[in-house]
Order: sequence, then structure tokens, then C-alpha cells
Amino acid sequence: MILKVIPVGPLAVNCSVVADEETGEAIIVDPGAEAEKILDSVKELKVVGIVATHGHIDHVGQVGRLKKEFEVPFFMNPLDNFLINDEIWQGFGSYIGAVPCPEPDIHLKEGHEIKVGTLKFKVLHTPGHTPGLCCLFEESRKVLIAGDLLFKGSVGRWDLPGGNLEDLKKSVKRVLSELPPDTLVICGHYDETTISQERAFNPFARELLED
Ligand SMILES: [Zn+2]
Repeated sequence: MILKVIPVGPLAVNCSVVADEETGEAIIVDPGAEAEKILDSVKELKVVGIVATHGHIDHVGQVGRLKKEFEVPFFMNPLDNFLINDEIWQGFGSYIGAVPCPEPDIHLKEGHEIKVGTLKFKVLHTPGHTPGLCCLFEESRKVLIAGDLLFKGSVGRWDLPGGNLEDLKKSVKRVLSELPPDTLVICGHYDETTISQERAFNPFARELLED
């Protein structure tokens, strides 16, 4: 598996390029900003899909641009359609250079599987940060692309439009209890982590797991 995590834009959103090294097929996850940087990273690869973990504009800001470039389907949970062109804060869209985002062609749902060559990404619907947030879990490589569900030492915000603290608690608890401890977690921003590290050191998670 080829995994490139590319921090993009002023909020350092982690755009992930995940490819099957045998076939060169790749998906781009959360292309929020800096399309040129993302395009550079997929030059040798065959892009077969664009995925958004959730609809916040800092994660979908370049979906429109990349869809034009590659003419491939865009995957997202449609519960987040109301967010994709919402600026969150006035002027934020132009600040990060966002282009209009189309609605998803393929609707991500719990239990779906996205196949990329020999890679298989299970879709986990884990709402709370947004209603439609979905994580992607590659079981045989033990990699979770978590979007803004979980961060190293922290969890996603629940105070933005569509956020819900109770849902977020359930979702964080679910991934920390269900996934193997040595799963690598690519977070929506900043550092990567592992499930075992968060079980041990994440203050929010520890509280949740005690419940
Ligand atoms: Zn977000």
C-alpha cells in the first residue's frame, strides 16, 4: 500500500492519497485545499475516486477541481450535503481557496466497502463532528482514515453546524473499542496516532471508555 498524507491549506487538513502499489490505483481523501500539491503527489498513479470523510469546506474545498481533472466519482455521506458549500465562518471559503463542491455521486454508508485495486476500505459511519462523518478502515493493513472524529490526544469539535456531542462520544468509543490496538490512525489535522496510544493517553477517550 502506498499512503501519502499531505497537509493542505492554512488549517493543515490531512489529505490522504492511498494507492495499491500493484495496480497504481488510488483514491484521494479530503482534498480540502492546494490542489496543485495534491496533483503533484498523484502523478504516477491512476486516480479512481475522490472521497470526503465529511462535508466541512476545509475537507472538500478542491473536490470540484479534482473531479474535473480526473472525471471520477465523488464519495461522501449525503447527510453532509448541507455543509459542502457552507463557509462555516464568513470569508473562510475564499481564504482557503475553495471552489464549489458538487454533491456526491456515490453515497457512503455504514458497511460499504470501497475497493482500490487489492485494498478494501470499510466504511464506518461515525457521526458527531458532523451527521455524515465516515471513517475508512483498511483492515488488512490496519489503517484508519478518521477525518475529524479523533485527534492525537483529542476529539473532533461538536459545536459546528450539525455537530452532536452524544453522537461523537458513541462514535469515538466505537472506534477505540472495535479496532485493533495497532491500527494507524490518520487524523483530519495534525499528527497521526494509533488506537492503542489514544486508548492509553487521550483524556476524552479514557473518560468515554470508563462509561
Ligand atoms: Zn470538520
